[in-house]
Amino acid sequence: MQNREVIVIGGGMVGALTALLLARQGELVHLVEKTPCTMPSVDEAFDLRVSAFSAQSKNLLELAGVWDLIPANRLCAYRGLQTWERGSSKLKFDSADIGIDALGYIAENRWIQAVLWQALKELNNVTFYENREVKGINNSDSGVSVDLDNAGQISADLLIACDGANSAVRQLLNIGITAWDYRQQCMLINIKTNSTQQDITWQEFRETGPCAFLPLADNNASLVWYHNPRKINQLKSLSNAQLKDAVKAEFAPLDFDFEVQDKASFPLTRRHAHSYYKGACVLLGDAAHTINPLAGQGVNLGFKDVECLVDLLHNSRDLPLQSILKRYENRRKPANLLMQTAMDVFYKGSKCELSSVRLLRKGILGLAQNSGALKNRVMKYAMGLQ
Ligand SMILES: Cc1cc2nc3c(=O)[nH]c(=O)nc-3n(C[C@H](O)[C@H](O)[C@H](O)COP(=O)(O)OP(=O)(O)OC[C@H]3O[C@@H](n4cnc5c(N)ncnc54)[C@H](O)[C@@H]3O)c2cc1C
Repeated sequence: MQNREVIVIGGGMVGALTALLLARQGELVHLVEKTPCTMPSVDEAFDLRVSAFSAQSKNLLELAGVWDLIPANRLCAYRGLQTWERGSSKLKFDSADIGIDALGYIAENRWIQAVLWQALKELNNVTFYENREVKGINNSDSGVSVDLDNAGQISADLLIACDGANSAVRQLLNIGITAWDYRQQCMLINIKTNSTQQDITWQEFRETGPCAFLPLADNNASLVWYHNPRKINQLKSLSNAQLKDAVKAEFAPLDFDFEVQDKASFPLTRRHAHSYYKGACVLLGDAAHTINPLAGQGVNLGFKDVECLVDLLHNSRDLPLQSILKRYENRRKPANLLMQTAMDVFYKGSKCELSSVRLLRKGILGLAQNSGALKNRVMKYAMGLQ
């Protein structure tokens, strides 16, 4: 069988993984990225953008041959996950309950992207177009060509758009989205702690929004604080020492000393593309869907998109491209929609002021804690193991 020629637009975590897996299968890959990826130093302070990677995402990064390239002092395994509504009992998940070492791993996005690029640079069937953006697309069912700024034109059998939430490719293709703003922001705060607890991640739901703790390697941690934009703006104006006091007043379980290292805020928007493909172009990751980050599912869903498309392209070579892309959409769109909706039910339920709804939520969390086998199934699903 002849190898395909594939253009990947966007070399973030999703695009870089897609490019690497396809190149390892022998496809000829053109990778277009507007911001070049550089290798961070192991001694640098932790970046604010971190993600919780599920067991399934770890397996995929292992398959791509990059998991072991992530430095041990930038990776934190978490064995416990706890969630509760303020004033009610905790729902606790423990990796030992399902006989595995860790529920997931927390790492900086930039390290995952960097090790993927490191592996890509070693392959001679990948051509890089760094500092380049897409200016125009000529798309048909039988192939695609792309105009790049100052770099001429590339043609290929397939274009894979991994250019993030504001995807230029999606807009050039006129693929619409359903979107809404949660009218909340989330503030990320990196802290250095003197705590010995570094393997439980937790999230407390309050009427103003959740607050969460994500352990990072080497006694670092990432705090996530959801609130309305006015409150977040006020928090951003505080010095690190003042912010520490504000955090201590709000994050009740932080019963150890810490120092604030860095902070930034992000708007929360849900988006879902009306279609995942058009002609010979297909959307993956945040270009296709963004989700409330409260359960740390965004990039994990993106990696599931990658796994699904790469598998279909490899194992269904006898099918026309349109049938492959249709199968990809049929498999991934309902699954992503389900996860987006589940997150919204949790999120909106926790912010609802009706006492009956809050009581129901508390009841559900209490029942879930005592549900044994059901709880373990939920845990496996969230890890991508079911
Ligand atoms: C606050 C916050 C916390 C989160 N926490 C988690 C978590 O714990 N777990 C989790 O799974 N997910 C989490 N997410 C979601 C996760 O960060 C995203 O799902 C993930 O980064 C998406 O990856 P991507 O590669 O699809 O897009 P991006 O990371 O946005 O990458 C897109 C790439 O395309 C490039 N690009 C853009 N436009 C062009 C163009 N026109 N031409 C060429 N290149 C272009 C960009 O430079 C970039 O490199 C969180 C998100 C937020 C906002």
